Amino acid sequence: MRKITPAALLAASFVASASAAAETTALQCGEVFDSKSARLVGARTLVVADGRINQVLPGRAAVPGASVVDLAGHTCTPGWIDLHVHLSEESNPDSYEEEFRLDDTDFAYRSVGFAEKTLLAGFTTVRDLGGRVSIDVRDAINQGLIKGPRVFAAGKSIATTGGHGDPNNGLNSRLSEALGPPGPTEGVINGVDDARQAVRQRYKDGSDLIKITATGGVLSYATSGDAPQFTVEEIRAVVDTAHDYGYTVAAHAHGKEGMRRAIEGGVTSIEHGTYMDEEIFALMKKHGTWYVPTISAGKFVAEKAKVPGFYPEIVRPKAARIGAQIQDTFGKAWRAGVKIGFGTDQGVALHGDNALEFGFMVATGMPAATALQTATVNAAQVLGVTDIGQLEPGFRADVVAVPGDPLTDIALTSKVDFVMKDGVVYRQP
Ligand SMILES: [Zn+2]
Repeated sequence: MRKITPAALLAASFVASASAAAETTALQCGEVFDSKSARLVGARTLVVADGRINQVLPGRAAVPGASVVDLAGHTCTPGWIDLHVHLSEESNPDSYEEEFRLDDTDFAYRSVGFAEKTLLAGFTTVRDLGGRVSIDVRDAINQGLIKGPRVFAAGKSIATTGGHGDPNNGLNSRLSEALGPPGPTEGVINGVDDARQAVRQRYKDGSDLIKITATGGVLSYATSGDAPQFTVEEIRAVVDTAHDYGYTVAAHAHGKEGMRRAIEGGVTSIEHGTYMDEEIFALMKKHGTWYVPTISAGKFVAEKAKVPGFYPEIVRPKAARIGAQIQDTFGKAWRAGVKIGFGTDQGVALHGDNALEFGFMVATGMPAATALQTATVNAAQVLGVTDIGQLEPGFRADVVAVPGDPLTDIALTSKVDFVMKDGVVYRQP
């Protein structure tokens, strides 16, 4: 077997990208969804070179020298963005035990398939909000070693002692004593100095953003899913330090008081937001805070709570109660005018099923075009990225095509026929 040195790999990937750069691809779309105006604008030809959209021509135009992809009868939309996934894992009845049994290597191998499923489902960009190998998965995708979406990784989420994301939760006292209390390096803080250190550690780890767990969580080995777990001062210290590094901050939150503190502390987005009410809607609008609902996760855990043994008994009542609530809260929040970004929490539910979230949104009365905006223009804003989420010249060539009109049948988003990311085709009719 030939030995491949890192230098040879680098050279090989350089040659591949150089030859791709010379090519021009013409995507002849039967229809195009304009994510800014939320309308279908008719047939268009997207001319792609160097991983970007160079030109958008009216109709199905001939482009001399370009390789043509015929997408007649299809609607092209910008590649979708899921703002809340966990590529390192996928829940199953053994998840709690696997934490003790498996190594990061095991999780990494599993994540290869999860990343590919996500991309082939039309999600060309994701925000990974915590997982043992998410930063490494991102790097492997960027190096072209595995197929997957563009990943913005939070790395280890930041929690407080005993909170959602304290890695020692549920350990017996001997193990807990042997390991000692986790600190900012492991993502557990108590006080503002710890908060700053934890953010700086994420920077050192190579994170792209910060995730905090502002309240208890459904799946953590603890009784409360909604109690506040940070002080406002701790959240402010996280947010201020995050800004030093150009980071946004995503806050997991179910209970109202924890959400209030997170919003006032200046976080970018509230994840889940289960027990939001009119008062919180108003506060979010005042602060310009985004809401990432993750209805998919709610539905999945409420369903699995009925299966004996799927979750530990300490988790089961939380999953049944909180899970069932999220879709209802989402419906009220968007009607109240809260800004919505698309997120599923996949890894709780199944990777590759991300597009089901569109249907869950539309079921509450949200127009399909608005739902598509949450995963395109809106999600790009949440990420603070200006060259994804639109099919316009200069934008990255992230394109998804579905057969027919997704504005009249949102279920078509689960029938993706074509996926391009950075100008590279990963799925074709
Ligand atoms: Zn999550």
